[in-house]
This record gives sequence, structure tokens and C-alpha cells, in this order.
Amino acid sequence: MKVYVSADIEGIAGVTHWDETEIGKVGYEAARRQLAAEVWAACEGAAEAGAREILVKDAHDTGRNLTPADLPPGTELHRGWGSHPLAMVEGLDPSFAGLILVGYHAPAGSAGSPLAHTLSPQLHALTINDHPAAELLLVAYSAAYVGVPLLFVSGDAETCAEAQRLNPHIVTTAVKRGVGGATVSLDAGRAVEGIRTGVAAALTGDPTRCRIPLPKKFSVEMTYRDHPRAYRASFYPGASLTEPRSVRFAASDFLDVLRFLLFAA
Ligand SMILES: [Zn+2]
Repeated sequence: MKVYVSADIEGIAGVTHWDETEIGKVGYEAARRQLAAEVWAACEGAAEAGAREILVKDAHDTGRNLTPADLPPGTELHRGWGSHPLAMVEGLDPSFAGLILVGYHAPAGSAGSPLAHTLSPQLHALTINDHPAAELLLVAYSAAYVGVPLLFVSGDAETCAEAQRLNPHIVTTAVKRGVGGATVSLDAGRAVEGIRTGVAAALTGDPTRCRIPLPKKFSVEMTYRDHPRAYRASFYPGASLTEPRSVRFAASDFLDVLRFLLFAA
């Protein structure tokens, strides 16, 4: 069995401030250590459930937060960005039995985390078919597009609730919740243990129960912080300016949505 693990940092236990998410800034090393511990736990849980090949995608910022030394034997690490439209799940294909997400976070405009955002801090809001789109939704639709079930999600409580909304069979482990500018997290040991046992449980049983139906049509609304970005994005083929800071893009093929985001987000 082959498993894909995609990891972000804003939904890792304890991570609260933007400085902690940025290489070289105060608190980053501690955040990186907890990221590594939670990813290790996900890999361990997958191996316990019978995974023999595990690909870990470092999907935060530069994509250079983890090193091979952070991962258990038998795993492979995808570092940096190849710039494929699948982005946070680059390289995901039908040969994988399941997708595992670690450290995912609430979307732009949400109060679910002080680190709530979608894709880039330049984006004020992103909706797909009028629903606020976190990276979770983009990745869930990407997995559905490729034909791989999304089996497990860890991160903040709002992200886990959104995963349950998409499909209640997805196993979730909420390691923290946002309260205004603060977060309340599980202790490191419980977070790691919850992820290990959660991933092991998620990979046991019929994976087809976790499939997410892909909409037939996608209407994407993107609002930027600054109007020049929207003006520029409005020249993407098929996109149009709806307000000074907002563009709309419609497609029936989800890969076209991902292509739009690759160039416009
Ligand atoms: Zn991130």
C-alpha cells in the first residue's frame, strides 16, 4: 500500500504567530520540531496499517521545512515546489491508496485560527461555489479529481469540522483551536498520539467510503487585499473583474481551476 502525506505548519499544535511559520524567525525551530513530530506520527500510523511506500510532501511556504532526517525509514520526502497545479499534493496519482493531511488550517476570512488564510497572505477571500475555500477544500477536490480518497485530516478544529462536512467518514484529529489571536493546543504527546492512532484507523477499512463528490461546475471568486493584483488576474483567460479587488473564474474541469490558481493566487 502506497500513501501520500501532505503537511502544512499553521495547523500544527502550538503554532500561533506568523513568525513561528517563517524560517529564521523567533519560534520557528520549535514549530518545525512539532511539525516533524506530527508528520513522523502520521508515517508511523500509516506503516502500522500496512503502508509500504509513503511520500511526504512538505507543503508549507518554501516547502523546505522538513529534511530526510526528520522522517522514519521507508519514506520519501518531496521538498520545494515543482510548480505543478496540484501544488500541495504535487505527484498525487491513482497509485496511492489514500491521502493524509497534517497541519492544515482554517481559510482566509475565518476566525478559526489566528493563522487563518488561503494560499497567500495577498488573498482576502476565496470561495468555490459560494463556499469559503481553505487549502483543505482545494486539496480534497484535487484528490477527488485524481481519484484518491482523503482518509485523514489533522490541524485546527475548524479544519477538522470542514473535513467532516465534506465526508463524515474522514478521520480527524484536532490538535488546537483558535480563540481570537490565541490558540489552545493539546500537549505535544497527545497531539502526536492522536495523529498516529487516527491515521492507522483511517487506513483500515474500505477507503471508498471517504470519496468526495466533485462538483460538475466550479465558480471561483477571489478577492485580493490590493486592487492591482485583481486587475492583473482579470487578464487570465476566462477570468473577469467583478469589483476593484475581486475576480471571478468559472470552469467545469477542476484542473482548470487549479491552473487559474497557479497563475492568479
Ligand atoms: Zn503553510
